[in-house]
Amino acid sequence: MKLIDPFNRKIDYLRVSVTDRCNFRCIYCMPEEGISVAPKENILTYEEIERLVSVAASLGMCRIRITGGEPLVRRDIVELVQKVAATPGIQETTLTTNGMLLAQYAQSLAQAGLQRVNVSLDTLKPGRFQRIARRGSLEVVLNGIDAAYEAGLRPLKINMVVMRNINDDEITDFAELVRHRPFDIRYIEMMPINWSDDEVVSPFLTDSLFKRNGSQPSQYPNSNAPTIRLLCKQPESSPPLGMLDAVQLRRLFVPTKEIRERIESRCGPLSATMIKTNGPARTFRYAGAVGTISFISQITNANCQACNRLRLTADGFLRPCLMANGEINLRDPIRSGASDEKLTELFRTVVFHKPKEHYVEEGLLPVGRNMNQIGG
Ligand code: SAM
Ligand code: SF4
Repeated sequence: MKLIDPFNRKIDYLRVSVTDRCNFRCIYCMPEEGISVAPKENILTYEEIERLVSVAASLGMCRIRITGGEPLVRRDIVELVQKVAATPGIQETTLTTNGMLLAQYAQSLAQAGLQRVNVSLDTLKPGRFQRIARRGSLEVVLNGIDAAYEAGLRPLKINMVVMRNINDDEITDFAELVRHRPFDIRYIEMMPINWSDDEVVSPFLTDSLFKRNGSQPSQYPNSNAPTIRLLCKQPESSPPLGMLDAVQLRRLFVPTKEIRERIESRCGPLSATMIKTNGPARTFRYAGAVGTISFISQITNANCQACNRLRLTADGFLRPCLMANGEINLRDPIRSGASDEKLTELFRTVVFHKPKEHYVEEGLLPVGRNMNQIGG
């Protein structure tokens, strides 16, 4: 039986975080030093991930994206990709990476059955790269992109998180890339992962920017669900050293509308393509470009009604939504001998509690986990 949530959405896409560790320290995702990672014994083993993927596949979840943290830092990742891709019922296996180890792995990942990669890249300037990612090398990532393309991992998508006064002057440079190269550049609105509760009551929230469709605050529909663990940890008063705090993040935010205007003023009008993606991206093309432009507008124009996914965290919790609290523990049941029927029931419980939409602009924010822990 397929997974259909209470809002009639078909849930067929699972994002699997295989680690919360990373070889970068992007300013919007992780602190520079002193990161807290889950103890190794809390991280799902490959056998456990394979089992959960197989249960998901039996429920009609036919598309898997491997993510993290940085998935390529986990040992023997190619073997996992091979097993996932070979799972009966899995039609598509993809991966999101920062690209640092991609040149090394692209060929073997493709041979293992990986179909596509998304590479995160926020700047084309080496010095700036160091300031944003704080580890790694732009040159190596660019080589990784070429290697992935050569290995047939296409269409190759490049994720750029747009930040005001940090990299927004490169919006059009990225758009120019697709004039001659068949990539899809995906402009991502900064998401308020782990923004602090302080921000909820701060005057910044009255920004009209964050009022989507004039919607009124509404109650998070499933907040009382007994089986969903709610993460309501009070945020630390100041973020860990080297991590942007809530107000800084807000000030860096650039809405899609502005990004699009800037691209159109340089490259000409964008026309919508018929390309269907697995997620919330909307894809466009400008005249003369071989590649495409997409926008992920989770804040100003979220497309929650088309959301088709669940997320499995590296430590084994299944989440119905990236941007809302709530997750269910699969690790303990699987380790205490749960049957496939029991695991199926837990998947169904999470789907049953999938919120209609996120309520970030109304002040209900995901807290307690960073993006590297959830799996972006
Ligand atoms: N390490 C891999 C990478 O960077 O591609 C995979 C995990 S990363 C968490 C997945 C994606 O989430 C990346 O494209 C990253 O830029 C994006 N991301 C992380 N924090 C974000 C935030 N606060 N807002 C928007 N995107 C974010
Ligand atoms: Fe690592 Fe990806 Fe987070 Fe950057 S966005 S710190 S590469 S997990």
